[in-house]
Amino acid sequence: MYFPNIDRTKCTKCFFCVNICPKDVFEIENDEVEVANSAQCNNCEACVAECPEDAIIVLET
Ligand code: SF4
Ligand code: SF4
Repeated sequence: MYFPNIDRTKCTKCFFCVNICPKDVFEIENDEVEVANSAQCNNCEACVAECPEDAIIVLET
């Protein structure tokens, strides 16, 4: 299992990660990125590559 962890101190809310994730792992709630479907994460790291702030790391759980 994988979990994409977002560093809130770095996130600028561009929402690129929400749009790039092929598994719809992220959702926008109250103008914040939330990890809504972590069970679907396959560690493709597209979000990591897309994030301009290096705010995401994918953890193995
Ligand atoms: S791509 Fe990075 S900076 Fe943009 S919303 Fe996602 S975590 Fe935040
Ligand atoms: S690693 Fe891939 S599947 Fe997992 S949240 Fe990021 S873009 Fe989505």
